[in-house]
Amino acid sequence: MFEFAELREKLATYLSVDKIELISESYAVAYAAHEGQFRKSGEPYITHPIAVARILANFKLDADSIMAALLHDVMEDSSIDKEFIANKFGDKIAELVDGVTKLDQISFESKIEAQAENLRKMMMAMARDIRVILVKLADRLHNMRTLECVSREKQVRIAEETLEIYAPIASRLGMQKFKIEFENLGFAFLYPVRYKVLQETIEKSRGNHIEIVNEIENMFSIKLNSEKIKFLSVKGREKHLYSLYKKMKLKDVAIQDVSDIYAIRIILENIDDCYRVLGIAHSLFKPVHGRFKDYIAVPKANGYQSLHTTVIGIHGITFEVQIRTAEMDNMAENGVCSHWLYKSFPYDDADTQAELMAKEWLRGLLDIENTTGNSLEFIENVKMDIFQDEVYVFTPGGEILSLAAGATCVDFAFAVHTDVGNSCIAAKIDRKIVPLSTRIMSGQTIEIVNAPGAHPNPAWLGFVVTGKARSNIRHWLRSQQTHEAQNLGKRLLERAMLSFETNIQSIAVDNLTRVLNELKLSSIEQLYIEIGLGNQLAQLVAQRLNIDGLNLDNKTPLAIKGTEGVVINYAKCCKPIPGDKIVGFLVSGKGMFVHREVCSHMDLKKSPEKYVHVEWSRSIDRVFVAELKIDVIDKKGILAIIAGALAECNSNIETLNIEQADIYTTFVFNIHVQNRNHLAIIIKRIRKLDVVVRISRI
Ligand code: MN
Repeated sequence: MFEFAELREKLATYLSVDKIELISESYAVAYAAHEGQFRKSGEPYITHPIAVARILANFKLDADSIMAALLHDVMEDSSIDKEFIANKFGDKIAELVDGVTKLDQISFESKIEAQAENLRKMMMAMARDIRVILVKLADRLHNMRTLECVSREKQVRIAEETLEIYAPIASRLGMQKFKIEFENLGFAFLYPVRYKVLQETIEKSRGNHIEIVNEIENMFSIKLNSEKIKFLSVKGREKHLYSLYKKMKLKDVAIQDVSDIYAIRIILENIDDCYRVLGIAHSLFKPVHGRFKDYIAVPKANGYQSLHTTVIGIHGITFEVQIRTAEMDNMAENGVCSHWLYKSFPYDDADTQAELMAKEWLRGLLDIENTTGNSLEFIENVKMDIFQDEVYVFTPGGEILSLAAGATCVDFAFAVHTDVGNSCIAAKIDRKIVPLSTRIMSGQTIEIVNAPGAHPNPAWLGFVVTGKARSNIRHWLRSQQTHEAQNLGKRLLERAMLSFETNIQSIAVDNLTRVLNELKLSSIEQLYIEIGLGNQLAQLVAQRLNIDGLNLDNKTPLAIKGTEGVVINYAKCCKPIPGDKIVGFLVSGKGMFVHREVCSHMDLKKSPEKYVHVEWSRSIDRVFVAELKIDVIDKKGILAIIAGALAECNSNIETLNIEQADIYTTFVFNIHVQNRNHLAIIIKRIRKLDVVVRISRI
């Protein structure tokens, strides 16, 4: 109870009494739901939701978010459901809690799939209400802070996910503080040794550096005072460990060779002063060419604003100077959270820069969602989108667009509009025609040339870097594939109908309706697609379409002629040959596999609907492969003797394996045979050889 009392006090500094009363009620529900549950650390479980709520209270988040934070784990860990929460606290809270609740684990085939589907669900909930992700980020932050209590395996998984997903999301929302803590904790748990070594190295060199940094701070202060520029602070700081580690990896250098480990941040009262101080920085120290960035004129996609320049300081140490106003600084630290933090109650509804940017981003996510096939692809596209630095370029109309660093003309085209991307054929950078794969750079003006009827090229997937371009190209390719599958499926069915001496046009309506119902399809076009993709066999469908009433195909065997091509495969495990008793097994997307009835892979009890009653046609004119195992007494020329016997029987050797045992040598032959009779003759012939101890078909 003590912990909650503390939270209450904090809330009382910015929330009204009746709001706090509501929050207390939600706390009571959470308390009861988690009663008797414990964290891995041994603490009562309720301490976790309280800690999450407290993180959000530090940002002065509204009562809804605090309640959602307290209730965020009840749906996963107790019998309380969404309806209960909606009835008690309203739909908004229920939506928030549901947004951070994981989907039921059992409905997924793999952990990866479950993770992707959960992320997709969360992202979509976040696109509807940004507070979902704030609760989730706070939840993750507390879990990261207490990660030492869980198993090593879980540490690695959670740390990886944090670095791959949550740190970039925090960054995308401009929440620098969250991002830095995520990255440092993630780094420490994922690579404990590297973390420690890097930390020690930095600490060792810190001693002399602190003096240098102090000296630089002083030089700035003195100069600013003498120029009569009012400043709020001049502060040197080390860049955080993970960003240094990333630099080392990116440039493949040792820590000693990483430049600008330090940054000096100067906070001023207004934008005008920022540019003046930039001039001062360049007069005090020599700037490094090409490192000046004006994020005030062109903010980053997450709303970040600041001037950056890298200079060579005293004793040749390079460092970055960041110059910005107090408001920009707050925004940089807290991103979308600054909405609550720096607006007085009741909140005015004007959006801050960071929020406008966040909304823009979320709209983009919905775009990606609309054009992606499955959750794994969606997450991949989102990752591409959140993981990157940006370039800023101009449209011919002078509009500024920001794109991921490394973006190409095709990425640009899709960023302008999906239709522009779909029909682009060439691009001009600063009025010069360039290949579509050209990477664009900040400051360039890009013009896209379109042609009616043009369409995306699969090769573009090899170079685009934005999620939007990638998902749109794939979307187009998929619709194309569906189109082709439909054509193929129709042809296959047409041919299959011939063997029943009829055609597609004469299918009885009743039969078609029945078959579509049985296969849970809504139209004949869908049926064609299923056949074209190999999910249904044309032969079987034709059979069904030609049987009146309920007499299902499995009663009449499907004749296997051996000439069906790609649709019918012969199982590699048991290698059936004509004369063997066989059974067909449907593999979706691949067609039918023919196995021997005795094959150990066949289990008719498991998914009986996938088995097809089949038998060999009487006229088969092709060879099959059979596998023979022959134990022999090893002697010179033995292989030639056996090969000779096989040739006498009109068989060819396809492959041969030799296993040397103590007494005997074992040959495993894959040979060509016509049917069981042919194989029987071969076995008889070989058994007659006096060097052969044992011979059997595998
Ligand atoms: Mn939790």
